[in-house]
Amino acid sequence: MTRAPGKTARLNRLFNPKDGRAVCVAADHGWMSDVTPNVMELRRILELVVRGGADGILISFGTAVRHGHLLRGKDSPAMLIRADWMNMPRLGASNVSNVLPVVNFKKMATSRARDALHMGASAITIYYFIGYGDEFEALNIEQAADFAKECRKVGLPLIIEPMAVGGMVTGVNIAEILIASGRIAAEIGADALKIPYTGDVKTFKELVDQAGVPVLVLGGAKSDVPRDALELVDEALRAGASGTVFGRNVTKAKDPQKMVADICALVHGGKTIAEILGEHRAVGQRLKPVPAQCIGCQLCEVACVRAHTPGYGQTRARLRVETPSLGEELKPHRPVVCTLCGQCADACATGALTIAPEARLVLQRSLCSQCGACVDACPFHLIFVEDGYPVVCDLCDGDPECVKWCKRGAIVLTEWKRRVRHVHAE
Ligand code: SF4
Repeated sequence: MTRAPGKTARLNRLFNPKDGRAVCVAADHGWMSDVTPNVMELRRILELVVRGGADGILISFGTAVRHGHLLRGKDSPAMLIRADWMNMPRLGASNVSNVLPVVNFKKMATSRARDALHMGASAITIYYFIGYGDEFEALNIEQAADFAKECRKVGLPLIIEPMAVGGMVTGVNIAEILIASGRIAAEIGADALKIPYTGDVKTFKELVDQAGVPVLVLGGAKSDVPRDALELVDEALRAGASGTVFGRNVTKAKDPQKMVADICALVHGGKTIAEILGEHRAVGQRLKPVPAQCIGCQLCEVACVRAHTPGYGQTRARLRVETPSLGEELKPHRPVVCTLCGQCADACATGALTIAPEARLVLQRSLCSQCGACVDACPFHLIFVEDGYPVVCDLCDGDPECVKWCKRGAIVLTEWKRRVRHVHAE
């Protein structure tokens, strides 16, 4: 079946005609999850996102009623409407503050394609849950297919967001399940996907290739370091993604307008992360976690302690492995490592803590006033104090034991570039 002209026209409004890509922002969190400043100040944030140059903004129906006028100008972003609702974030799998005693996981349709068209939407977005392997999953596919049918009738593009959450999903098979979910969503009738990053370029490329429709990568949990978010975008683009639908990494950023503009510079402007962040020439290597590969064995912690402080327990490791707790099926195991973001060194008023030219943190005890500012500044909470002085990751003098011991490749070395200025102080 050829695509309805209405769909083509609306997709053209969303995807930049010059490069076929789109930078979208998800601002539909309030009615499902957290009541945080990004929800309470939605109008202000939407205005900033529009100014940042987003191509599309995903909002709930109620927000479309209240703030839809912001998206009606000739050059304003396309309006995407969330057409379903689910209570999963209230199970504790997200950063919600209003957790309710939810027993069953539920999802329901909240708007129809015609309602969204009436509001001026260029597309609707719905969830597709995978990993249950039961009648709920079957029901969900039926519901998604109904949306697809309605959208075909009225010429409205359908963006499906696969969520790998059921009991069959583990940290090890998540990439495989996401690849399958993208393919199935496209078969159901999605015109585009909004989907999490699989964790590496190779598996995400497989996802993009198998889906055969434009793939927009989502940002996931808020990252403390904007560079991490930009790296995710960069990797997804290299895998063939058609753009982004970032939520909290934009709406909770200190400067949402700047964050959107930076993502646009990557997606549309052909800029490199180094150019955007004002970095220059690579001078060494730093650690990088690859959560999709982590199985939570904690060998890296053991290796770190063994290399530095024999006799101590794993609490003395200069990295840690976060394991998902009950109700956090969405999250893979996650190595948290020093990425040489430099925030600790920036916070050190005496110059005791610096990043040495060969790319590693160095503490000069004679200069250290033991104020603890570096401990507070580390966004990953990796710096601990021993004998009054901070202990930081020293990259094992350039040959990190954690990288050597992790046979899964869940911690790797990547290029580190010296910053010449901080564009985003978070
Ligand atoms: S504790 Fe020492 S290294 Fe850390 S910020 Fe204070 S002076 Fe700098």
